[in-house]
Amino acid sequence: MKLDSYGIHWFRRDLRLDGNPALANNLKKHQGRVLGLFCFDHKFLSRPDFSTNRFQFFLETMGHLRDELNRRGGDLLVLDVGPKSAYEKLFESLQSARLPLPKTISWNRDYEPFATHRDKEMDVWFKSKGIEVLTERDHLIIEPHEIFKGDDPSATYQVFTPFKKRWLEKFVTGEVQARLNLAEVTDFKCNWQQLFAGKIKFEDQLESYCEKNRTKTTIKIPNSGTKEALKAVEIFKAKIKDYGAKRDIPSVQGTSRFSLFFKNGSLTTSQVIREMGLKNPSRWSDGEAKFVSEIIWREFYYYILSRNPRVERESFNPLYSKIAWKNNEEWFSAWKEGRTGFPIVDAGMRELNETGWMHNRVRMIVASFLTKDLHIDWRWGEQYFMEKLLDGDLAPNNGGWQWAASTGCDPQPYFRVFNPYLQSEKFDPTGVYIKRFIPELKDCPVKLIHEPPQDLMNRNYPAPMVDHSVQRLEAIALYKSRPSK
Ligand SMILES: Cc1cc2nc3c(=O)[nH]c(=O)nc-3n(C[C@H](O)[C@H](O)[C@H](O)COP(=O)(O)OP(=O)(O)OC[C@H]3O[C@@H](n4cnc5c(N)ncnc54)[C@H](O)[C@@H]3O)c2cc1C
Repeated sequence: MKLDSYGIHWFRRDLRLDGNPALANNLKKHQGRVLGLFCFDHKFLSRPDFSTNRFQFFLETMGHLRDELNRRGGDLLVLDVGPKSAYEKLFESLQSARLPLPKTISWNRDYEPFATHRDKEMDVWFKSKGIEVLTERDHLIIEPHEIFKGDDPSATYQVFTPFKKRWLEKFVTGEVQARLNLAEVTDFKCNWQQLFAGKIKFEDQLESYCEKNRTKTTIKIPNSGTKEALKAVEIFKAKIKDYGAKRDIPSVQGTSRFSLFFKNGSLTTSQVIREMGLKNPSRWSDGEAKFVSEIIWREFYYYILSRNPRVERESFNPLYSKIAWKNNEEWFSAWKEGRTGFPIVDAGMRELNETGWMHNRVRMIVASFLTKDLHIDWRWGEQYFMEKLLDGDLAPNNGGWQWAASTGCDPQPYFRVFNPYLQSEKFDPTGVYIKRFIPELKDCPVKLIHEPPQDLMNRNYPAPMVDHSVQRLEAIALYKSRPSK
């Protein structure tokens, strides 16, 4: 094969082929001669909130991606070093073998602070080598720099409703509607071996990572990959009409569960909008409008994180950055292990520990309980969620925690404290969800399940660890008495 020009697509959180805009663009430039590369950044793998289970889901997704690439004549090389070292090593090998460097490197844009910083550096470095960088929007429909108040690009919306209004105005424009079309990915015309005719050798790390990591997983890893994601879309098509009514009931699967796939880009929100026929807001049913509104919440949290990277470490609202959290370690352990004595909270935490998933309503309840009933710093909960959630994703996780802790952007006001008993009665009225995850309460009568009295209960289940009404007042006092500076 004549090696005149070729490109590399740097896969990151866009683990799919069809509808992958940066990849499509690169392929077009080189008539199919594009190689796929993924590099494991050890800085990322050693983060304190790293999740073995989510990593396994990611690795398995990458395996599906590679199979699909091979099927279509392409290839994916997975290297065990961060991007700078990976590309340096690759370029050195190419130069010693007198092979040309790629003409282009493509990637889809990321908005997390760590990634933004990395990408800026890589962009400068590639350009210094005379390589063209092609980047595209992918995992958001509208990017953070595109939405601002009035004429000032730096004026950030801080409240969801006006953000959503502006987002919807942009959504119906021709420019954004065109993004919902499928970026066509042609077949590949080469793989690593063919292109370099064996002149350079790399040891691919995917299998060894997958094998090693699998032994450390603690839950059953769900099926992954784009095909599985598209199956989920088909299933949800039949359910969306009931989304408004069922989305808050944790005992039924009334939500899409797409977040698992959005996290690694085996599915994108643009794909979902297109596949589900949701391009035109004037035709949305109530359920559809509610569903898209949740997608807009996701975009809102990315918007906030991208425009205020400090929220990764601190409260969005500086008024609440110095709350005197009590941070009792034993209480934190009881919360993590689902033995607080509050059935809805314990069911949620056990669901998380046993499956890597938790229903949105229950995420709100347990987050409120940790911060407002146990007076523990929201960052502790945020990190634990990241360690456990298969869909753990910085922007919505940080946004969700800061919402529940009343420290965030457009949050729950601090004086509105969720009552775990009332939440339980309202959203799990027959206790089906509680009983699914708390076998100790399987014989508890429905009318007692939300607040089981000690004498009637199976003694294996703990008594409530705190008095909610006392803790609520203390929480309000904590927020009121926060230091002003
Ligand atoms: C404390 C807390 C932590 C959270 N952590 C995460 C996280 O790490 N990763 C994550 O993806 N979501 C997180 N969320 C948001 C939400 O709980 C999940 O996105 C949702 O449960 C995913 O289920 P689904 O795909 O079935 O959602 P659906 O109800 O089907 O909604 C469709 C999509 O809209 C988005 N979405 C839905 N609800 C929200 C929301 N409240 N905020 C932002 N986006 C939303 C998701 O991308 C979701 O896939 C968190 C929420 C809270 C309260």
